[in-house]
Amino acid sequence: MHGPHDAAPTGELRHAGSADPPSWFTRGRDRVWLPYAQMKTAPPPLPVVATNGSRIRLADGRELVDGVASWWTACHGYNHPHMRIEIARQLETMPHVMLGGLLHEPAARLAERLAALLPGDLGRVFFSDSGSVAVEVAMKMAVQYWINNGVRGRTKFVAFRGGYHGDTTATMAVCDPDEGMHRLFKGLLPEHLITDLPRDEATTAALDRLLGERADAIAGILVEPLVQGAGGMLFHDAAVLRRLRALADRHGTLLIFDEVFTGFGRTGSMFACDAAGVVPDIVTLGKALSGGTLPLAATVASERVFRAFWSDDPMQALMHGPTFMGNALACAAANASLDLFEREPRLDQVKAIETQMTAGLAPCRGLPNVVDVRVRGAIGVVELSTIDIPRLKARFVAEGVYVRPFGRIVYLTPAFTIGAEDLARLTGAIVTVLSEP
Ligand SMILES: *Cc1c(COP(=O)(O)O)cnc(C)c1O
Repeated sequence: MHGPHDAAPTGELRHAGSADPPSWFTRGRDRVWLPYAQMKTAPPPLPVVATNGSRIRLADGRELVDGVASWWTACHGYNHPHMRIEIARQLETMPHVMLGGLLHEPAARLAERLAALLPGDLGRVFFSDSGSVAVEVAMKMAVQYWINNGVRGRTKFVAFRGGYHGDTTATMAVCDPDEGMHRLFKGLLPEHLITDLPRDEATTAALDRLLGERADAIAGILVEPLVQGAGGMLFHDAAVLRRLRALADRHGTLLIFDEVFTGFGRTGSMFACDAAGVVPDIVTLGKALSGGTLPLAATVASERVFRAFWSDDPMQALMHGPTFMGNALACAAANASLDLFEREPRLDQVKAIETQMTAGLAPCRGLPNVVDVRVRGAIGVVELSTIDIPRLKARFVAEGVYVRPFGRIVYLTPAFTIGAEDLARLTGAIVTVLSEP
């Protein structure tokens, strides 16, 4: 069923002796500015020399079972042969050509396939190279949608507490104000309307009021459907999204789903909007879009949105164009990834992961420091009342797994191809480490 990359040994992890770090590591390590890291005090990164399936091999020979899938991207595991072959094939023909005045088959095929997969008439695909930029493009699209329709002053977005939409300045401004970096960058960030998700009658009424009062200023509502990821792996149900659709329609504003995290099976359906039965006006995709191989993102608009840009006036064109947009290698990778969703039982694998994680993480429920255990699709979360992140990170590595807690949560987002034994190692390591005093 899986490719040969899954033939990796599932028995004991190898623990070779502690060889000296490789020279590339000692020479270059202080030159690389790492993400979200206090460079003075953070422990050094782990030198990685290879990946395979759900395993990360370190320079000293140890192999870690990967619980993160490289920020949720590597849905087919690492080094899937079909991904490798298709990317190599594209490399031979044409690694990249700009989309300025040119078009190539990988981008055209990918756009056609995404349009066919997405619900409703979401089918006008604007490519970019990161999730943050895809969200920025969605925001520009929404603002210009109103301008092109002759409506001025609609430049604010309604977004939600617990949300995360990226690290660029426009997207930071629509992240959760406490989790995000609003305070640090006050003065740089435009102010948007960040409020509670309409989970019940009171919050729905409050949002209804806000949309009514600020209708003339609001360009759109921006939400991560079903699961708010980097803001804390917070779940909400489909009814919340149906309320958002109804409220957006009542107040005549645009609804944007940021599916950079939830897209491509992570929550159990191909897209979260499928499970919710709600069609947004714009959707953003990224992360697993290229199967965890090359940077690629997309902003997909409905006909209603696209039509606002369809005119004889050049100033009514969408004013955006990343240098590497629609990169041919990345689009070939995304096409190969979609092939795998067709040929291999990815959504069944997500179901099996959900079942196994639910059972495997259940023992955490009784632990004194645990406030919640939740699983949806291939996302497993243990929420703690207090957390010692550096200690946990080190203990997980010692247990032979790569798990990266943040905020007050320990979570798993494994590759969908992970074997049952490797997944048991991940959940077992979490139970073991969280059971320690
Ligand atoms: C990761 C993420 C982004 C940002 O994507 P980058 O590729 O890191 O820029 C945006 N929205 C959501 C929901 C994400 O999970």
